[in-house]
Amino acid sequence: MRTGARILVTGGAGFLGSAVCDRLIAEGAQVVCVDNLLTGRRKNIEHLIASSRFTFIEGDVRTDLPEGPFNEIWNLASPASPPQYPADPVGTLLINVNGMHNVLELARRCGARVFQASTSEVYGDPEVHPQTESYKGSVNMIGPRACYDEGKRAAETLCFDYQRTYGVEIRVVRIFNTYGPRMDPKDGRVVSNFVVNALAGKPLELYGGGVQTRSFCYRDDLVEGFFRLMNHPTLTGPINIGNPNEFTIRELADLVLEMTGSTSGLIEKPLPADDPKQRRPDISHARELLGWEPKIQLREGLERTIAHFAGVAAEAKVA
Ligand code: NAD
Ligand code: UDP
Repeated sequence: MRTGARILVTGGAGFLGSAVCDRLIAEGAQVVCVDNLLTGRRKNIEHLIASSRFTFIEGDVRTDLPEGPFNEIWNLASPASPPQYPADPVGTLLINVNGMHNVLELARRCGARVFQASTSEVYGDPEVHPQTESYKGSVNMIGPRACYDEGKRAAETLCFDYQRTYGVEIRVVRIFNTYGPRMDPKDGRVVSNFVVNALAGKPLELYGGGVQTRSFCYRDDLVEGFFRLMNHPTLTGPINIGNPNEFTIRELADLVLEMTGSTSGLIEKPLPADDPKQRRPDISHARELLGWEPKIQLREGLERTIAHFAGVAAEAKVA
């Protein structure tokens, strides 16, 4: 429990950040959420705004962090979907670097423990499979995804330098593809795209023939992993948190069509540049050091996600 703890969450109005805020409020904390609503939505935190323990600041992690003191800072502010990076590549990199720097400076001043939402993208298009935390990665540093990948890599560097130089307590999670309720239907990531299109009777767009693989983690499993690391007395990470069951994107498309009963079918589109060919986390560290492993497999997670998006579509029809 976190009764009375003062906690800052950046990116708290997003898909994952709002789930973190929910759990922190349930544990009795005072939560300040800073989010510029670039990809997050007020709707995700509407139910929390009524709580006297929850404060929302519409602001940028690069310029608008409130002064502490805070016991913990959870840093989730960043664009998170590949189609969003080219909209503002310079901003994508700087949100991660300057935002992380701001968070760590604030933590240094007030003694807060810092959680960093890093990513499997630090491994780039990986030559080691499954990906272990010791793998240094294969990122094309001048490609169109590099603004995100290198931004997250530099953010990890900042975390470890602040720990070594100033003793800031850090907890770094490398998140593998996570999905679930509250994803923005227009976010552009594969699970939301497929489910939204299948429910609307539009064809699912398969990039590059769908032979590339991903391993999909349900949101609630991921958040449990976050809290286990954050609550650990000493472990810094970086630690992989994700579901190690691997699927081709075509398999995912077929499953979504089957589960929604949709006849909308598939169309092929070109593979985006530098799109990783395979991805699957090695979660031995999470299993051994945190006693964590995912409980919700793809079919069950998709059932909940499809039900969520069906509800959103029904609400939109009524409005
Ligand atoms: P999301 O887009 O729903 O959440 C990101 C949030 O950050 C949004 O609310 C957005 O408005 C906010 N934000 C963006 N720029 C900001 C800025 N300059 N200042 C303040 N707020 C800003 O995406 P998500 O999936 O919830 O991702 C949360 C974090 O987890 C991100 O850092 C992302 O890189 C990381 N991550 C997510 C996944 C995944 O599969 N969901 C995988 C790897 C890493
Ligand atoms: N993808 C797809 N159709 C879509 C969206 C994505 O085929 O409508 C593919 C994409 O090319 C990638 C995989 O699905 O290979 C996962 O994409 P996503 O954007 O969800 O995340 P990534 O793992 O690439 O960051």
